[in-house]
Amino acid sequence: MQHISVIGGGTMGNGIAHVFAQNGYAVTLIDVASSALDKALVTIAKNLDRQINKGTLTEADKAATLKRIHPMTDLKEGVSNADLIVEAATENIDLKLKIFADLDAYAPADSILATNTSSISITRIAAATRRPDKVIGMHFMNPVPVMKLVEVIRGYATTDSVTETVMELSRKLGKVPVEVNDYPGFVANRILMPMINEAIYTLYEGVSGVEGIDTVMKLGMAHPMGPLQLADFIGLDVCLAILRVLHDGFGNPKYAPCPLLVNMVTAGKLGAKSGEGFYVHTPGSKDLVVAPGLR
Ligand code: NAD
Repeated sequence: MQHISVIGGGTMGNGIAHVFAQNGYAVTLIDVASSALDKALVTIAKNLDRQINKGTLTEADKAATLKRIHPMTDLKEGVSNADLIVEAATENIDLKLKIFADLDAYAPADSILATNTSSISITRIAAATRRPDKVIGMHFMNPVPVMKLVEVIRGYATTDSVTETVMELSRKLGKVPVEVNDYPGFVANRILMPMINEAIYTLYEGVSGVEGIDTVMKLGMAHPMGPLQLADFIGLDVCLAILRVLHDGFGNPKYAPCPLLVNMVTAGKLGAKSGEGFYVHTPGSKDLVVAPGLR
């Protein structure tokens, strides 16, 4: 396994390219937008500088890492010699089905096709290809260079040998892989999203305020940040989309998204990315200020 192609140079794609390149793999980073590729390379350089400042990386390592990353906008050319492809494009089912049909056509017949999807069925994505045995979930956590976990998700047809290859590769990246099966939300989001939803219900029903709920979970459960602050960082639209996947997938009312979450997303209060969710997010400030109207 030498050549890795990463599809999508956004938040996750640039982090995935970073860790593969830092561990000696040749990486082709593919995005439809060349501006996204430029931005990704700037972000990777900045994150490598952070490692240098911490004393965990040298200037020479940084230069070698950046040299191993080849940005490209042409999918066909970009996957032509890939041993493994990790898709981290926008979370949209139709887009991913199209990308996987193209990957199946353009990538070498024996290459493994992985997806970093947070919520879409691996089995469904695999069905867009003629090699469902070689399609797998490789779910990195944000920020990728920092977070140790990789949730390795076996689709219905994924073979043992493909799973073991991806588990071993994750270990080579310094990560801790956990093998899980392909059911809605996998493990991480199946447990995390109902907790976030329950925190929002607790606020909605007036049991406590934003700060009260987050403080209980931080100090009482030793969580590094409260569930409402975490929801703001993930994006309230993303949380809502994943809850809908759980609700549709299991048909169980316990996953029904809280009406307050639905209202906030409809009103464009998406969390950190829109400047306001449960908290107000001011660029450059780390102060936690509860959003007006939610106190
Ligand atoms: P993002 O919006 O930051 O980046 C997506 C990138 O994909 C963009 O640069 C876009 O230009 C590119 N893209 C769109 N269509 C493309 C195509 N056809 N070919 C190539 N590139 C294309 O999104 P993100 O947050 O990095 O999420 C990417 C994937 O990772 C999603 O499936 C998401 O569910 C998953 N994920 C996200 C997080 C997170 O915290 N953000 C965590 C785990 C998993």
